[in-house]
Amino acid sequence: MSEKSNSAEIRIDVNYAIELITEIFQAKSCNHYEAKTIAERLCGSNLKGHDSHGIARVPRYVEWMERGWLYPNMKPELVVDAGAMACLDAKQGFGQIAGECAVDEGIERAKKHGCSVVGLRNSGHLGRIGDWAERAADVGLVSFHFVNVRGSLLVAPFGGSDRRGSTSPLAIGVPGENKNHIILDMATSTVAEGKVMVAQKGGKKLPHGALIDSLGNLTVNPEVMYGKISDSEVPDPNKGTGAITAFGLHKGSGINFMMEILGGALTGSGVNGGVDKDKENIQNGMLSIYISIKNFVDLNYFKNEVKLYSDFVRSSPPAKNVEQVLIPGDKEISTNNDRFKNGLPVAPLVWENIKSTAEKLNVPELDRFEKAIK
Ligand code: NAD
Repeated sequence: MSEKSNSAEIRIDVNYAIELITEIFQAKSCNHYEAKTIAERLCGSNLKGHDSHGIARVPRYVEWMERGWLYPNMKPELVVDAGAMACLDAKQGFGQIAGECAVDEGIERAKKHGCSVVGLRNSGHLGRIGDWAERAADVGLVSFHFVNVRGSLLVAPFGGSDRRGSTSPLAIGVPGENKNHIILDMATSTVAEGKVMVAQKGGKKLPHGALIDSLGNLTVNPEVMYGKISDSEVPDPNKGTGAITAFGLHKGSGINFMMEILGGALTGSGVNGGVDKDKENIQNGMLSIYISIKNFVDLNYFKNEVKLYSDFVRSSPPAKNVEQVLIPGDKEISTNNDRFKNGLPVAPLVWENIKSTAEKLNVPELDRFEKAIK
């Protein structure tokens, strides 16, 4: 299953992209490990096909640092330490680093106790939540991740027409053979906000009913989220009057609601409309549960049942206009292989915006941005 090319997009060599984005965050005082981790995880998101959480975020992260919403070189603090349970406070540090620390805490505790529950509060953007389920699956753990985004009011509840919640992602990971893990990773809104941003920059169009305007009409026009903006402006969702719809009608809207409670209220990160409702910065809260499979059932039995069920589902005869029936994670695995070889497809404007960010930060040899195009 190879990805179809979109003539409006350019292809960027992933190694070049990592190098350039590392330099951008080093120019913003991030230490080398942090800058490289941010760059690798953003590029990793593009590799997996989630451009919404990829390199298009670079100018926005830089802007958030300048607004004092995101701090470089922060070390998350352990604020709850209770056997199988723990909670870390990321203190507005980068989510790419805080996420790693929180998952590693969960892994250590699950190894010791058979399962663990770890909260992460006040984290900078955690990016693609599937990353965290994959990190746990790499060491053989099943994991669940419930996330909210305090300060990012974007989503209308079922039946409503203005913003009451965030895109609140949910991820569930099951270890697979040869690190081909089964990862369900999804926003609980019809689309992630980054997908609206990508559409605004001329990338992939939104599906029908993804947005709702302030009069309650369904639409796919990104303008309802950002207002009318010029090509060089960073899209600011606070400038629009519409909302993204919650996914899956009343049931999806209910799951979106619960993400806010688990990721926000239970971790101590705060909910939208809660006591910190006037704080301007954006923070992810994440509640994660880790389970050691062998503490429940025989490992070989589990692996075999997972394989049998996966094959059973994939073998369903495809419906009209469907190429192949997939299970969670299949699409990301095939996209990753294709993009690693052929480069990351990016709207030219996204690459241009990253280059202008680098230029403002005096990153040298800007012609490397042209050289990175495959
Ligand atoms: P999406 O709509 O592409 O859904 C992705 C999920 O659906 C994956 O598990 C994928 O394997 C599965 N899938 C895709 N196509 C499929 C098919 N044909 N058949 C079966 N399964 C299929 O993703 P999304 O909801 O737009 O989310 C995008 C990303 O945004 C995610 O990585 C999410 O974690 C991230 N996100 C992050 C935040 C944050 O605050 N950090 C907020 C919202 C979303």
